[in-house]
Amino acid sequence: MKHSFFLISIWLAANPLFGAEPSATRATTVSQFSEAASHAILPPLVPWNGKSRALAVSKTDPWITPSEKSDFRLSPSYDETVAWLRKLVTAAPELKMISLGKSSEGRDIWMVVATREKQFTPEQLHQNGKPTIFAQAGIHPGEIDGKDAGLMLLRDMTARGTKKELLDRANFLFVPFFNVDGHERSSQFGRVNQRGPEKMGWRTNSKNLNLNRDYTKIDSPEMEGMIRTLNQWQPDLYLDLHVTDGADYQYDITFGFNGAGGHSPAIADWLERTFRPAVTKDLVAMGHIPGSTDVANWIDPLDLSKGIKAWMSDARFSNGYGDVRHLPTVLVETHSLKPYNQRVLGTYVLLESAIRTTAAGISPLRQAIGADRKANAPTVPISWDVDPNAPAETIEYKAIESRTVPSAISGGLRIEFNGKPMTTKIPCQHGNHVSASVRRPKAYWIPPAWSELEARLQIHGIQFERTTEPRDLKVSMYRLEELKLQPEQPFEGRFQITVKPIAEERTEHYPAGSLRVPTNQPLGDLAVILFEPAAPDSFVQWGFFNEVFQHTEYIEGYILEPMAERMLANDQKLAEEFRQKLATDETFRASSTERLRWFYSKTPFFDERWKLYPVGREE
Ligand SMILES: [Zn+2]
Repeated sequence: MKHSFFLISIWLAANPLFGAEPSATRATTVSQFSEAASHAILPPLVPWNGKSRALAVSKTDPWITPSEKSDFRLSPSYDETVAWLRKLVTAAPELKMISLGKSSEGRDIWMVVATREKQFTPEQLHQNGKPTIFAQAGIHPGEIDGKDAGLMLLRDMTARGTKKELLDRANFLFVPFFNVDGHERSSQFGRVNQRGPEKMGWRTNSKNLNLNRDYTKIDSPEMEGMIRTLNQWQPDLYLDLHVTDGADYQYDITFGFNGAGGHSPAIADWLERTFRPAVTKDLVAMGHIPGSTDVANWIDPLDLSKGIKAWMSDARFSNGYGDVRHLPTVLVETHSLKPYNQRVLGTYVLLESAIRTTAAGISPLRQAIGADRKANAPTVPISWDVDPNAPAETIEYKAIESRTVPSAISGGLRIEFNGKPMTTKIPCQHGNHVSASVRRPKAYWIPPAWSELEARLQIHGIQFERTTEPRDLKVSMYRLEELKLQPEQPFEGRFQITVKPIAEERTEHYPAGSLRVPTNQPLGDLAVILFEPAAPDSFVQWGFFNEVFQHTEYIEGYILEPMAERMLANDQKLAEEFRQKLATDETFRASSTERLRWFYSKTPFFDERWKLYPVGREE
């Protein structure tokens, strides 16, 4: 009940870059909706004539991509894309298609390996010593610019030959569509806030999971395939290609990464000082208006003057996951209100520049990766926020003029953009101040009852050992207090919780078959954020340890009452504690259940493992 074919027709007709091609099919399939309900009304189009338009080939070129052929009105289906790629791969010995695995609906998730040396295994590829750049499109399939840009670039690197020298410098791995099932749930109504292509895929996979929230919990076969691939091929740079909604502004392509304050300070420094300026320069030279992904994060969606907030991604997102595993990862977001050709061509320029920039700076980048993997810092950040003591920075912002007017529809205010570019100065708050961190233990101990986690650790590539003998071990453990469902509805197929972990020292028995996960390994930070219950992407908060909250034994009141009387009579301290609690805790005084439970908890019959998180920290 979203994107409108009719409106697209209108703006296509008004745009000299596109030819209007009306179709009669839509009206019949959405007849239950009025015409007005089927027309998205987007803010005015800002004309664009960037130099990168020359990257599109002429209509007579034998290697024209399906999207170019339609003047960027369309993006090809799964079958059309795979057929086109197969033709290219047959003609280009530098290319090979490899499946990362299958989606739930049985589609192969293809990766194209591009290498001058025709080395198509991870081991061979590493032997050529060149940097490997991995670009992934279509984790959100409605945001498919990356696929059509990647097809053009692969063609220019090989069969057409205009960008041949890129493969002298680097290897290129390209996934045209990651969420293949979502890609095939395609219609004119996939993304109402977006200017083209005419048909767009759906955001989530066939189980309604958002793959860009699945990097830590790995609930989808798609993500399992992707993370195994990252481990096998060990790219030097990972690019995740999207399209962003949000306010109207001039920037047509933005990119960002977790910066200073995250898990990979040396990599962040390289991305900030080397990658960002070089790629920005190349995009500007080709007529684009690049910016940081933060430009979309208006603090008040109705008022730009309040500024923007630069935030850090948690590890469930590609760029947060890259940060915690020390894999340089860049999130790319073209702007949904820009036409499809402008967005695809901007993505092409960014991909090419990313390859050149990484190749030119590979030695310092690999040093940075090595340093972050070895850092083994004594504390590990688990959340970030704006530093309350640091003033916001003032930045220049390439805006589109807007006004707010009272709305009879919502009863509040609405914002109207008029398509006129303007530059303004606004505050930018930096959300990379560490607001919580934990001490890194030597290792985590996981009892065999939770061995289902082993498969996930393996997929992540986290090293661990399985014990063959039982062990009694001094560890620190957490009692998980103040359980809250958060939020009060399922999120990504799970009920998330938050807890207040209270540490206690114990000697704990770990049966044979327990897992010991050391943290002095390249993925040590990832282990920490998975096993620390206070971390937002921990197994605890995703609901993998819900069993420990259940109280399974109980005592009859008629048995406890006389016991409690004797306990009070024999223990002056306990009697005083009880009197105090009655005097100061109104809820306690009023609840006979709570009062009985209190006495029960002072007996050895009470379950001393209640709310005990079974994962131990070896300090
Ligand atoms: Zn997206």
